[in-house]
Amino acid sequence: MTDHPSSFPAQQQEPPGLTAPMEPQPDHGETSYVGHGRLDGKRALITGGDSGIGRAVAIAYAREGADVALSYLAEEQEDAEETARWVREAGRNVTLLPGDLRDEETARKVVRDAVEALGGLDVLVNNAGFQMARRDSIADVTTDELDRVFKTNLYSLFWVTQEALKHLREGASIINVSSIQAYQPSTTLFDYASTKAAINNFTVNLAAEVGERGIRVNAVAPGPIWTPLQPATQSEEKIEKFGQDTPLGRAGQPAECAPAFVFLANDADASFVSATVLGVTGGKPVF
Ligand code: NAD
Ligand code: MG
Repeated sequence: MTDHPSSFPAQQQEPPGLTAPMEPQPDHGETSYVGHGRLDGKRALITGGDSGIGRAVAIAYAREGADVALSYLAEEQEDAEETARWVREAGRNVTLLPGDLRDEETARKVVRDAVEALGGLDVLVNNAGFQMARRDSIADVTTDELDRVFKTNLYSLFWVTQEALKHLREGASIINVSSIQAYQPSTTLFDYASTKAAINNFTVNLAAEVGERGIRVNAVAPGPIWTPLQPATQSEEKIEKFGQDTPLGRAGQPAECAPAFVFLANDADASFVSATVLGVTGGKPVF
């Protein structure tokens, strides 16, 4: 377990970002997460499961007894293999599904391939996401960036979820990844923040539609979490102070997000929990 750094050395990467160059290395619960069989025999697809929050969720799910499929971009293969290693070490099966979810056919095929490899699907974690924050104003948002953010965060959410709903059964759980940005948007993140607000709306609406099938739909809203997304998309000055504006005075680690995803996936502990957003924000409000 790292000792929760409250400042970070200035550093930059190009998107999507990798784990190895990060200083310090994020904590994904490798040495700390202890499973208790809460997800025994479950089958989960985690988009963006190679790194950051997705890796921490994959490690926790595997140690709780789930098999997992991970979707990610092809250039993140080394991160995906490292996550896969931890899943196998926990004694569970892992399937690696590289592909760009901005493409509809790829997004649908990722789900079909996951279902085939896992033999079904019980938990869908819609975690893949993109932001670009190296700018000051709405005037600086380019159409290329808008396309990337909306296709990654929203179009793929519709495609992946539509395809998954063909396979999810009673007791299944869908967990979307929102953000503190849905509640306290930054002017550097106009496009991203608006997608996260839309994801909250989507979560509530989908919960209303699929509740009668016994499927629960929730979201986790992280605050500032130390993942490759940050050095790949924030300015060096923002990185140095990353997370210091939370009431707890620091950024969170991916490992600190995983228990929320375990809770929401578990159809015993969270059997009556649907259409909620669970904040993991270091004290910033999610209402
Ligand atoms: P991350 O970079 O480790 O994970 C994001 C993943 O999204 C990438 O690893 C990549 O595999 C995937 N992805 C991006 N574009 C894709 C595409 N076109 N096709 C397929 N996969 C794609 O960073 P993270 O911070 O762990 O991000 C996970 C989620 O958490 C995102 O939805 C992000 O918006 C959200 N979030 C992060 C923070 C934070 O501070 N890190 C805060 C709030 C919300
Ligand atoms: Mg990654």
